[in-house]
Amino acid sequence: MNTKNARSELPGPRPRAYNFFGDYLWNTYGTRVLKLPIDAGFTCPNRDGTTGDSGCVFCSEEGSASPTARGRSDVREQMGNARRSFRRSEAETRYIAYFQAFTNTYAPVERLRELYDTALADEDVMGLMIGTRPDCLGDEVLDLIASYARPGFELWLEVGMQTMHERSLAFLRRGHSHEATRDALLRAARRGIAVCAHIILGIPGESWEDMMATAVELSALPVRGVKIHHLHVIAGTELERLYRTTDFRLPSLGEYISIVCDFLERLRPDILIHRLLGDRAPATLVAPAWGLHKGTVLGAIDEEFARRVTRQGFLWREE
Ligand code: SF4
Repeated sequence: MNTKNARSELPGPRPRAYNFFGDYLWNTYGTRVLKLPIDAGFTCPNRDGTTGDSGCVFCSEEGSASPTARGRSDVREQMGNARRSFRRSEAETRYIAYFQAFTNTYAPVERLRELYDTALADEDVMGLMIGTRPDCLGDEVLDLIASYARPGFELWLEVGMQTMHERSLAFLRRGHSHEATRDALLRAARRGIAVCAHIILGIPGESWEDMMATAVELSALPVRGVKIHHLHVIAGTELERLYRTTDFRLPSLGEYISIVCDFLERLRPDILIHRLLGDRAPATLVAPAWGLHKGTVLGAIDEEFARRVTRQGFLWREE
């Protein structure tokens, strides 16, 4: 890998008030690193009747993945299509195989090994990212995932925590407890697996104090990353039905900016921020409309931190 050339071809990251995962990748590898989203044909215990039969309230038929992981074609074919869809650049690019759609540890271990190995056969792939639920992480599965760890390889487990509050987990119809999340995170950490926890801000019924309590709890857990989503309503979901038939409201853009900055100020400073906003195609998004303007939202977060003269971890206190 010609790291020197790659560094000179693309601008480096600008200073930010939070510990952004993309900046970490650039600073560590000196080259562009992109995720190749994969839909490996998994289902989910919260959809097949094991813990539930209609999924989390916010989950559409396509699963919790962003619009980029679609289709059930061959894993290598999907990776090839994703690579071709990225803008061409002379700069060197490396890739993380991202098992994104539905629950990507919900299969016998030998099947999981086969799928992960297939993705990793590509020599430009330098990482593996696996999205799943906390109740689909038995010891055998964690042992398999841990077996991929090696120097210079980005191994990430993405776990849907969403919130630390049981009543919110029940509202979201997650079908697992916060204790299940804690248990899975601790067992993953014991194996040295980097975990990125998914969090949703703006869950109906959660107060500001509830959301900040989740930031404090997250900081006390052995997580290496966090992916924050604003609660957003997707067409055809149970959440859409509730949105249209009950009086729950979603945070405004201004409220969300304030909540995210408050949350990040209470977050451990070393936690890598993978995302600060949910991502959906305009055609399927019901609300809030401001969620379509990612650049505006991220810019407003930067401005708010500049106004406060604070940053991630500003209010974090080691317990
Ligand atoms: S756990 Fe994930 S894939 Fe399963 S229903 Fe919930 S959001 Fe959808």
